[in-house]
Amino acid sequence: MSPAASDSMLPVVTIRARDARRVAAGHPWVFDGALESAPSGLVDGAIVAVEDPSHRLLGIGPYNGKSRIRVRLLARQSVAIDVDFFERRIRSALAVRERHLPGASSYRVVNSESDGLSGLVVDRYEDVLVLQIASLGLEQRKAAIVEALARVCKPRAILERSEGASRRFEGLEPASGLLAGSLESPRALPIRLNGLQFEVDLEAGHKTGLYLDQQANYEAVARFARGARVLDCFSFLGGFGLHAARAGAAHVRMLDQSAEAVAASLRNAAANGLDGRCEAEVANVFDWLKAKSRAEVREREAPWDLIVLDPPSFTRSRSSVPDALRGYKEIHLRALRLLAPGGVLATFCCSHHVDAQAFQSAIQAAAFDARVVLRRVACYSQSPDHPVVPSIPETEYLKGFAFEKVEEGG
Ligand code: SAH
Repeated sequence: MSPAASDSMLPVVTIRARDARRVAAGHPWVFDGALESAPSGLVDGAIVAVEDPSHRLLGIGPYNGKSRIRVRLLARQSVAIDVDFFERRIRSALAVRERHLPGASSYRVVNSESDGLSGLVVDRYEDVLVLQIASLGLEQRKAAIVEALARVCKPRAILERSEGASRRFEGLEPASGLLAGSLESPRALPIRLNGLQFEVDLEAGHKTGLYLDQQANYEAVARFARGARVLDCFSFLGGFGLHAARAGAAHVRMLDQSAEAVAASLRNAAANGLDGRCEAEVANVFDWLKAKSRAEVREREAPWDLIVLDPPSFTRSRSSVPDALRGYKEIHLRALRLLAPGGVLATFCCSHHVDAQAFQSAIQAAAFDARVVLRRVACYSQSPDHPVVPSIPETEYLKGFAFEKVEEGG
């Protein structure tokens, strides 16, 4: 029999049977509507025990009366949430990365719910760590987390980039800065990904600096690049473009609307000796594709053999999914018109609310309008340092496909 939570002396929160099933399956969030009873006077951030209606202990975690997520479970048993706890969790998260990304020196060390640490993200860029805290319970325990990270990873510096909108839902202000160690140039730290050098801005770059979730896909997509004319749309620091150039692309054109990103991608190309075959342009991809897919322009310019589409999320909410799908369809339609027969379109969707099936349907609708037939040659997901836990659907967000444009038979 599992021990009753009351044995642990923690305040007990009881939740409804229906919600208890989801939590017992591994989901760490207890929403306000799930609560059946809670002691009065609970202090925000205090560790509570969560029980089902028959007093079975589901787990323990910090309570936050300000958040719709009232409790974020951190453990299934009653254990002390202290430096040793965080050290154990970080060590086991690290073991997953060492197993699935052997040899990588920059990767996500802790991916929040995927690693039993709801509200904590830690990225490693060589010997520098960047952390993001998105929950009140972990904000209050930041010092213990920093101490545990120092013990396990022995970093040169630990920076904070807790800027996400989700902090507001927990009653927290943004927080950023140096938490430990020292770092002279956080705005241009050289790091290595798959043996290529990238310059990363740890203070102002996207996410914590770059899109580590695409690390495995850069190499996978580059397999289609040998001898190809490659168009990397939404290129940011040039992740897909530079991997394609190294894999033997004849020519790479990178497009991003951010002038800083374009400049950084050109510096990265030069740092890897790939600048001879890489160009980058500041452009709105939608406008650029629209202009280039006009019939008279297509007659003049050679088609592309490999096109990568890796746009930002088109929707943050379920309600705007139809708009997002229209956006995906349009961008694919234009890209398909620019793709050579037999060429490959590698395309990604990071909108959590658009699943792989809906994404593929939007692409098929575009193929129909473009009068082309597609052959799917690869499926992609987020890199293994962003693990998917199927009982926590929120852990899965990145999906991608590679499609070949089927050549007309004679
Ligand atoms: N492929 C990149 C990540 C892309 S993130 C990588 O692997 O690192 C999305 C990028 O799209 C950002 O760099 C952003 O500046 C750019 N962006 C957003 N909207 C855009 C638009 N309409 N046109 C061109 N670039 C855009």
